[in-house]
Amino acid sequence: MEDIKMTDQKAQYAQHKPELDAAFSAAMERMMQENSPLVDDFASKVAGYLGARHVFPCANGTDALQIALAALDLPAGAEVIMPAFGDAAGAEAVKLLGLKPVFADVLPDTYMLDPAAVEKAATPGTVAIMPVHLFGHCAPMHELLSLAARHSLFVVEDNTQSLGAVYVGPEGQEAKAGSLGHISATAFFPAKPLAGTGEGGAVITSDAALAENIGRITRNEQQEGAEPERLYIKSPLDPLQAAMQEVKLKYIESYNSARREVAHFYDKAFAETVLVQAPHRAPYSSHTYQQYTITVNPKLRDGLQEHLRRQHIPSVVYYPQPLHLQEPFAYLGYKAGDFPVSERLSESVLSLPMHPRLKEDQLAYICQHLLNYVKQHD
Ligand SMILES: *Cc1c(COP(=O)(O)O)cnc(C)c1O
Repeated sequence: MEDIKMTDQKAQYAQHKPELDAAFSAAMERMMQENSPLVDDFASKVAGYLGARHVFPCANGTDALQIALAALDLPAGAEVIMPAFGDAAGAEAVKLLGLKPVFADVLPDTYMLDPAAVEKAATPGTVAIMPVHLFGHCAPMHELLSLAARHSLFVVEDNTQSLGAVYVGPEGQEAKAGSLGHISATAFFPAKPLAGTGEGGAVITSDAALAENIGRITRNEQQEGAEPERLYIKSPLDPLQAAMQEVKLKYIESYNSARREVAHFYDKAFAETVLVQAPHRAPYSSHTYQQYTITVNPKLRDGLQEHLRRQHIPSVVYYPQPLHLQEPFAYLGYKAGDFPVSERLSESVLSLPMHPRLKEDQLAYICQHLLNYVKQHD
């Protein structure tokens, strides 16, 4: 059996090597032209893929979140509601821009921002909500969008993990994650659905006024001889990365469907026991399984991970600590017990190896060792 990897960038490169190498050489030539359209070409492909009007590529997903928030022109200290369980990048961007992160708990099945918790956290100072499409699944956008409309809030989608996930609206209408709110951010880091060979990201909107703002923020007006009106955030996407990502964008659906097959194998294996909860898929969303994240009894989780490690099976705890208990957000005054679902998830989640090239023998080996352990220690 081949070694089991958590993700497999090397195999993806090998799969597309001739095409990527040719695109690389062509990009080197094109970069020597003045005003090379490489990045613009990639942006229009992403816009077409998502069904969004404006795509502004940038250096990484963290910058994309920051540019998206800056484009909203919010007053200092304005409150942005976001999930307490997940990656810290969104809350960091909010804090860095002088806004106030406000956390809300997540739903126990999908791990997504809980609309009822958002409703409770909203105050007259709230200006935006920032749902995260976590692990490849959409946040409950119908409830969140209608709540935002009722309270006149911006919706900033953190779509750094779920490019390609499809959201199904209440009338059956389909749209891609990242095209639903006022503005969204995505990432092209190697461990994301569309992986370049280095870093990348993009800000996406179909709103003309927000697009105009993003243009201003990401353009150095001073250099153009104009009086700058806003903060300038320098974050260009490397044209070489744009060229690599453009190749991989053609294959994103095939990567996503291959990961779904892997997920299906895991799902079937874990269906036989209540000791392992497979990731939930809500009827309103497809799942691209950027991560395949199970939950187990918190008492077993760390022992299980250690057991898997001894069998050469990698796994990762995404995420070991909810945001409201992390040091950079201590000034907000939250305490343990404030968000019980997020706290419990932090103790019970485990993300298993997930990439398009996992083979059946590897999957069977992973499931067998995992199930043996939880059954023996229950
Ligand atoms: C990866 C990630 C980011 C940041 O993207 P980078 O390209 O790594 O800067 C932000 N939010 C979430 C939820 C992420 O998973």
